[in-house]
Amino acid sequence: MSRLRPAGRPPRTPRSWGGLTPPDPTGPAGLLRTSRLVKVYRADGVEVEAIRGVDLEIAAGEFVAVMGPSGSGKSTLLHVLGGLEPATAGEIWLQGERVDRLSTAAWAILRRRHVGIVFQFFNLLSNMTVADNVELPALLAGATPRQARKRREELLAELGIADKAAAAPARLSGGEQQRVALARALANEPSLLLADEPTGNLDSSNTRDVLRLLRRAHAGGQAILMVTHDARVASLADRVINLFDGMVADDVKMVPIPRRLGGVGDVVELRG
Ligand code: ADP
Ligand code: MG
Repeated sequence: MSRLRPAGRPPRTPRSWGGLTPPDPTGPAGLLRTSRLVKVYRADGVEVEAIRGVDLEIAAGEFVAVMGPSGSGKSTLLHVLGGLEPATAGEIWLQGERVDRLSTAAWAILRRRHVGIVFQFFNLLSNMTVADNVELPALLAGATPRQARKRREELLAELGIADKAAAAPARLSGGEQQRVALARALANEPSLLLADEPTGNLDSSNTRDVLRLLRRAHAGGQAILMVTHDARVASLADRVINLFDGMVADDVKMVPIPRRLGGVGDVVELRG
């Protein structure tokens, strides 16, 4: 894997991935922290309290799944944490810096260096090829064209879409576009990946490819905050947060249990 690392970022320590990896207790804590985060949408005189006082702390390299019923605020939380929607109240700290008051432009620069985003509405650039879509974030983060190309080739190959490099995004299926969006979000090796149902449109074989890539990113030290409805996908995470009605209803660490020989899938125990 190429190493595109903006200056000043400490080298990652690859961790072995034998099932589930618990958060590294010696690693730097507090990659992302929110305090009493609130998001109220106002439309046509109607107020919707989508996020109602969320306190959250995510350590560097931690893999956190966000679950909860439809309308519980999962997408809103990710949008606010990625700076795509302003918070109404509360604080957001990213890598020790308060970011909830940043301008749109400052957020764009921050995302370029530190945050990868895979949202369904966050469209690919239609006038660029798949290859350029994936290389651009790496170039913007300071990679050389050669490094960006290598990274793009690795990501597309891992996701089984290497043959689509020269295609226009509009010519791809929904599932292929979703994988290109994931490749793009991982191209600059962000410290934090925000992903809203990244396997939502995928069949089981493509889901496996995406999960393998997420595990690899996680093993390489990237933190992941991922919305999913799929308990098997969530079982790959270090931690599962359940949102209900805009609030954190529970937040549990997944404790790895050694896989039984011949067992199918991951067996996990929930410990509150
Ligand atoms: P989830 O992703 O868990 O399904 P959302 O974050 O999309 O939930 O929505 C949380 C609440 O906020 C819902 O009541 C939804 O209708 C409302 N909401 C989401 N986006 C907007 C918006 N742009 N304008 C107004 N209300 C919104
Ligand atoms: Mg949603």
